[in-house]
Amino acid sequence: MSTAGDWELVVGLEVHVQLKTRTKLFCGCLVQFGAQPNANTCPVCLALPGALPVANAHAVELATRASLALGCTLHPMSIFARKNYFYPDSPKGYQISQFDQPLATDGFIDTVPRGDFPPVRIGITRVHMEEDAGKSIHDRFPGVSAIDLNRSGTPLVEIVSEPDIRSAEQAGSYLRELKLILEYVDVSDVSMEEGSLRVDANVSARRRGATTLGTKTEIKNLNSFSGVERAIDVEFARHVSLLEAGEPIVQQTMLWDGVNVRPTRSKEGSHDYRYFPEPDLPPLVLEQAWIDRIRDGLTELPAARRRRFTAAFGLSAYDVDVLTSSPRIAEYFETLASASGEPKTAANWVMGDVLAQLKQTGQDIADFPVAAAALGDLLRLVRDGTVTLTSAKRVFAQMIVSGDAPLDIANREGLIKVDDDSQLSAWIKEVLAEMPDEAARFRGGEKRLQGVLIGAVMKKSKGRADPKMVSQLVARLGT
Ligand SMILES: [Zn+2]
Repeated sequence: MSTAGDWELVVGLEVHVQLKTRTKLFCGCLVQFGAQPNANTCPVCLALPGALPVANAHAVELATRASLALGCTLHPMSIFARKNYFYPDSPKGYQISQFDQPLATDGFIDTVPRGDFPPVRIGITRVHMEEDAGKSIHDRFPGVSAIDLNRSGTPLVEIVSEPDIRSAEQAGSYLRELKLILEYVDVSDVSMEEGSLRVDANVSARRRGATTLGTKTEIKNLNSFSGVERAIDVEFARHVSLLEAGEPIVQQTMLWDGVNVRPTRSKEGSHDYRYFPEPDLPPLVLEQAWIDRIRDGLTELPAARRRRFTAAFGLSAYDVDVLTSSPRIAEYFETLASASGEPKTAANWVMGDVLAQLKQTGQDIADFPVAAAALGDLLRLVRDGTVTLTSAKRVFAQMIVSGDAPLDIANREGLIKVDDDSQLSAWIKEVLAEMPDEAARFRGGEKRLQGVLIGAVMKKSKGRADPKMVSQLVARLGT
């Protein structure tokens, strides 16, 4: 446990999120993952002399939406600033970011309680806009490094938390909720695999009860949430063992290799960057009416949707968690619940059959071939007794393949429920003939065989027999 013993873990997270714009932050070049190296570049993002940046209005809108969704105070005026440092994949020799006057400040995220972990409120210090750097490629040409500037100038927001996080689990909960919020308000693909969400963790330790912060180290570029949690635990343990031995913590940047943290370069203090206002860009001024319009247009956030699903549909916390785990799953479920008129049944289908199918094919629910309204038709066929639940599963499998209407499939495949006495009696007669021993024992009073016989009849009917009627007819044999 990271918080055990005399030492308290203190963590703040910096999350870089790539905004979902068509073009870059200060030029018209396309933002594209996986394009040919340097295909999407121009004088601005190549930093040719005399080229001037122009801020991308869509990026500003997405950053604003993110800030409002995170409960931040949005500043009507913010300033782009030059952050000066040399990096081979940053051709200008500086990065355009925001420093002392960021876009937004003072937000928060409430984590979702899970198992033994109660909810906590983690403060958000600031949200600012900045451009991404290019990429150095070291494994393409033997003996030399190459530079790909496609990513140079890609719009990012950096979301900086307060040092409010006290355990690796809290860090994970904070990140999962942050990712979900950004997904709901549709500002980013939040794909860690494609690098559109990257996490740096500032870790320190202090004696329990102390009010000042210990010396921190920064673990850079963590690329999975489980990696963040494990790296924090490992780094905390390293801090504690140094402190216990009376040795100082060196403020530095660390890298996580999946097992261990190791130092990279010593941490530059912020004064080293010699920030100053970007002379090529005017202050970023947002009109109140525009901000209000963005605020009014915000979609329902995950926490509100969880509350509404709980109240409106009477679902368990676990069900609500799964059904709101992406905005698209939540919308699918809600359409299905209202199409079928049976929220609990709808929840079972989405959490069972639909998600299992998506997991198997690796598809997103947005591309799922069975529309929620069509699945609602199937659920109504079960409710009004046209097909049994067993047959409905087969119809569903056919809907995925053919996309046909459920009633058409049920008719075509002979899956309409059979509740005709003579057909059911004929199947029962066949089963009794095939299982003479069980039939005799059941008639002799061995009640527990009733289920065996019913199962055999259902199997013989290929799931089409009305299970209630079969069970009544079989029960009659035993009396
Ligand atoms: Zn460009």
